[in-house]
Amino acid sequence: MSTLRQTLHELASTLRDRPDEIVLDIGAGGELLVARIRFAATALLMLIPLINFAAGGSLSETMIGLIGTGGGLLLAWIWLILARQRRRFPWLSFATSASDITMETLVIVLVAITQSPAASLNTVIVWTCYPLSIFATALRNDGRVTLFAGLLAMAEYGALALWIFAQAGPHAVLSSPDYGVVSVSLQFQRMVLLLIATLLTAVVVYRIQRLVLLSGTDTLTGLPNRSFLVHRVPQLVEHALASDITVTLAIIDLDHFKRINDDYGHPVGDRALRHVVDVLDDALDHDEYLMRVGGEEFVLLIHRPMGPAWERMEALRKRVMAVPFLPDEDAVGNAPTKCKLTFSAGLASCPQDGSDVSSLMRRADQRLRKAKHGGRNRVVARE
Ligand code: GH3
Ligand code: MG
Ligand code: MG
Repeated sequence: MSTLRQTLHELASTLRDRPDEIVLDIGAGGELLVARIRFAATALLMLIPLINFAAGGSLSETMIGLIGTGGGLLLAWIWLILARQRRRFPWLSFATSASDITMETLVIVLVAITQSPAASLNTVIVWTCYPLSIFATALRNDGRVTLFAGLLAMAEYGALALWIFAQAGPHAVLSSPDYGVVSVSLQFQRMVLLLIATLLTAVVVYRIQRLVLLSGTDTLTGLPNRSFLVHRVPQLVEHALASDITVTLAIIDLDHFKRINDDYGHPVGDRALRHVVDVLDDALDHDEYLMRVGGEEFVLLIHRPMGPAWERMEALRKRVMAVPFLPDEDAVGNAPTKCKLTFSAGLASCPQDGSDVSSLMRRADQRLRKAKHGGRNRVVARE
C-alpha cells in the first residue's frame, strides 16, 4: 500500500514539478526530434491535395487543401527553427503541443463543416492524433507538458462534442451514411481514453526521469557523477560568464588512498570514500556543486573568485583532516583505530584560467599534480 501511495505521490510530482536541468536538456533534444517529425509529416500531407487534383479533383478544392497544408508547414517550420535554439524558449514545448492539439481540433471542426457533425465526432483517424500528440510529449521529458497537452485535448474535444450535441438539440440523432450513428457513450469512452493516454505518458516521463537520475548519480556516494560535469557544469560556467560572476573549479584527489584498500580491504575503502563525501557534503553551500568524477577524484564548483575559493578549499581540507575515519568501527573491545584522511586539490578560475570546462579542468589538473609533488594534503591555486 505504501509503495502504491509512494508511486502516486511521485507521479503527481512528475506532473507538477519542473524537471531537473539535465532532464530538461535531454527534453530539448526530444523537442527538436518532434519538430523534425512534424515538419516531415506536414510536408508529406501537402501531397494529398496534389494527388487529389491528379485524380480529377476540382481546382478550388486543391487550392484550399494546399493553402491549409501550406499554413501547417509554415508553422511546423517556425517550430523547427525555435526548437533548434535548444532551451532558449522555456515555453516552447507547451506552445508546440498546444498548436498540435488545436490543429487536430480545427481539422475536426473542418470535417463537421465540410462533411457532417456525425462524421466529425465519429472519425477515428483524426481523433487518434490527440493521443499521438499526448504520447509525443514523453519525448520532452516534462510531466507538466504532458498534463497540459492531455487536459487541453480533453477540453477542446469535450467542448466541441458538447457544442455539436447542443446544436443538434436534445432529441436529435446524429448520423451519417459513412460514419454511422454518434453514440454519447462512445464520446465518453474517448474522453476516458484521452485521460488514460495522459496518465500512461506521465508514467513514461516518470520512468525516463528516474533513469536519467540513476544514470547521473554515483551509486556509492549518491553524488552526481561525471555526466553532471559534462552536461550541467558547462551551463553553470556559461551562466556565470554571462552574469559577470567568477567561478572556481577544484579537482580533489584523496591522498594515498590505495593504502586504505591495501591495509583494510576494498569495502573499508568504499566506506572511507563515503565518509569523506559526508564530511564535505555537510559543509557545502547551496551554490557549491560536488561531483564524483573518478575513483577517489571529485570536482567541486565554487561560485567565488580564486582567493576566497582557495580559502574555502583550505577550510574543507582542514575539516576532512579533523574528522577521523574509523576503519574498523564494528570492532569490539579495543579502542577504535583512527585514520586521518587527507586530500590534495588544484584550482582554476573562470575567466582568468579559461572560459570552458575542459580548459579549466586541464589547469586545475596541472595544479593538482603540483600539490601531489609538493607533498600532498594541500590546495594549489597557481603554477
Ligand atoms: P595519490 O596520493 O598519489 O593520489 O595516491 P593514491 O593511492 O590515492 O593513488 P591514485 O589516486 O592513483 O589511486 C587511487 C586508488 O583509489 C586506486 C584504487 O585502488 C582506489 N579506488 C578508486 N576507486 C575506488 C572505489 O570506488 N572504492 C575503493 N575502495 N577504492 C577505490
Ligand atoms: Mg586518483
Ligand atoms: Mg589519490
